[in-house]
Amino acid sequence: MTEDTPQVTGDTPPGAEHTSPVTEDTSPDAQDTSPVTGDTPHVTDHGGGVWAIKVPIPDNPLGHTLVHVLDTDRGPVLVDTGWDDPASWDTLAAGLAALGTAVTDIHGVVITHHHPDHHGLSGQVREASGAWIAMHAADTEVVVRTRSSEPGVWFDYMSAKLAAAGAPEEHIAPLRAARASGRMRTLPGLRAAVPDREIVPAELLPLAGRRLRAIWTPGHTPGHVCLHLEESHPANLPGNGRLFSGDHLLPGISPHIGLYEAPEDTRVTDPLGDYLDSLERIGRLGPAEVLPAHQHAFTDAPARVRELLDHHEERLRGLWTLLAEPLTPWGLAERMEWNRPWEQIPYGSRNIAVSEAEAHVRRLVKQGRAEAVPGTDPVTYRAV
Ligand SMILES: [Zn+2]
Ligand SMILES: [Zn+2]
Repeated sequence: MTEDTPQVTGDTPPGAEHTSPVTEDTSPDAQDTSPVTGDTPHVTDHGGGVWAIKVPIPDNPLGHTLVHVLDTDRGPVLVDTGWDDPASWDTLAAGLAALGTAVTDIHGVVITHHHPDHHGLSGQVREASGAWIAMHAADTEVVVRTRSSEPGVWFDYMSAKLAAAGAPEEHIAPLRAARASGRMRTLPGLRAAVPDREIVPAELLPLAGRRLRAIWTPGHTPGHVCLHLEESHPANLPGNGRLFSGDHLLPGISPHIGLYEAPEDTRVTDPLGDYLDSLERIGRLGPAEVLPAHQHAFTDAPARVRELLDHHEERLRGLWTLLAEPLTPWGLAERMEWNRPWEQIPYGSRNIAVSEAEAHVRRLVKQGRAEAVPGTDPVTYRAV
């Protein structure tokens, strides 16, 4: 595959997005390409009191989350924590030990977004250390809602949503059957830690001796933030400080942009529009180096931003062409280009794919390049 062929699953397994409680996904081919440097296999020293620990994500081709450690005058602060799994926890603890510190010393936890490969271990870190956990309010809302949600509500929501998107009955039937039988797999996120501090966009985080500013970058999730370390680059690379980019800006993966799935929320959102705006914001920032949560650190953020903007524009144009024939979001997803043929895309990933198709349709409608065909049920869309 070409490196930016859209990933059908993004970085979160379907269960994490409550999209596939029925089948486990074997997801696509995001490769672990990050170079291993530093004193131990799991730790990279980025200089200037910043390190990365490669914390594994079990059974996921994405491989690992890069948990960043930021030294402050009050003790180490983590940017993201990793997946909630014993092996991930052990790796995080070993990485901190290699840096001469320990989980018990952690002063605070800054979370880029609520996905379980970023926020999974936050609760355990807080329990061990008494650290605070900070997150943007929009993602905290998702955490709180997910914790209080009854799995059945999700099944009903997903069934209705898939039907409205034009999914065939044989795709929806397993959801209804699982709902009826009460065999509902425990959804991840039900026990995610509720953050106790809010990350306020454009404000400095209260970190002793450091200048870390929050930049709200919605799109991948409604409350995704990048964290801008406004200090000169330790190797004097040209540019404006360093950026912890979470999943917003990755060197070789186009992050999943779907809908902000939320039962009982009737707001019509435009996550792809949000994402494209957020990308431009980061491009203008011009950081000297980007420290993403997966893959590896890289420079020239504006070039990567341009690639992703072009990629989405190309995709929108492709969809617009497909809509010469009126299609439901499901029909579109079947015809779109993924990293493998539609027939080979597993059940859960199809749900994510259809959500991505729908996000693109919403953008086209908002741009006046597509419209709903009056009187259709499920609603089909056509190019204008
Ligand atoms: Zn991620
Ligand atoms: Zn994510």
